[in-house]
Amino acid sequence: MTTKKITKVSGGEDTAPQKPTFVPTAEAKAQAGKFRMYGILLWILAIVAEIVAMVILFKKDPEVALSTGKRIVLIVFLLIDLVLLIAGSFFWKKANRFDPASKRNELKFLFQNQLGVGVAVIAFLPVVILAFIKKEYLVGAIAALFMIGGGAASADYKSPSVEEYSAQTSRVEELTGGNNVYWTKSGTKYHIYEDCPHINTNRTDEIFNGTVAQARALKNITELCKTCENRAMKEKGLTNGVETQPETAAPDEGTKSESEGQ
Ligand SMILES: [Zn+2]
Repeated sequence: MTTKKITKVSGGEDTAPQKPTFVPTAEAKAQAGKFRMYGILLWILAIVAEIVAMVILFKKDPEVALSTGKRIVLIVFLLIDLVLLIAGSFFWKKANRFDPASKRNELKFLFQNQLGVGVAVIAFLPVVILAFIKKEYLVGAIAALFMIGGGAASADYKSPSVEEYSAQTSRVEELTGGNNVYWTKSGTKYHIYEDCPHINTNRTDEIFNGTVAQARALKNITELCKTCENRAMKEKGLTNGVETQPETAAPDEGTKSESEGQ
């Protein structure tokens, strides 16, 4: 006990009852920023390729068919457009794994994760319309096909979210007391134990070790290994399904029931 006056500084309050929210590290943020820049740059180049194709089409007389050579040049530019679009979307989706959006704002979440689909429309719809106006039906059909294919390749089917990262990190922390997981180059799950039979095999010669967020960002691994989860629960004295609170429970126990999006 001290007789000195204790002044509680604002901001230093115990924030434990609040659900821990995932915050990307400065490094992850920087990585995400870099990948977003690559993505946007590639998308801009895709639109430049589209503009070149449009210029060729624009100059064309709708009543006179294009020469085969010109048509091939057109299709080549559409192909370049497609490749750049998909490459841009690849980096964009990668960036979102380093710095995911929050589901709290549904519209922003959808926009950030599916932006590539919108870019696919921008990168192809104008050229589709112009091709049909100019009666270049084959080119128009190819461009429409590229728009659909490029859009499908640009969509994010496993959109990462802050909430998911938070819940998964809390789960591992709750089970192990730390945020430390293992994964392999070709695996699809992250593991709590480095000697888990799924990764400790003859086929594996390298095991990666890091946080849940790193497993997600670097390898796009979205799931915790069930074998590891069950083993950790057993070791912690937790029974499957109904969880009894062990004596050494982490202070964030109880946040689990509030966690959403799971
Ligand atoms: Zn495992």
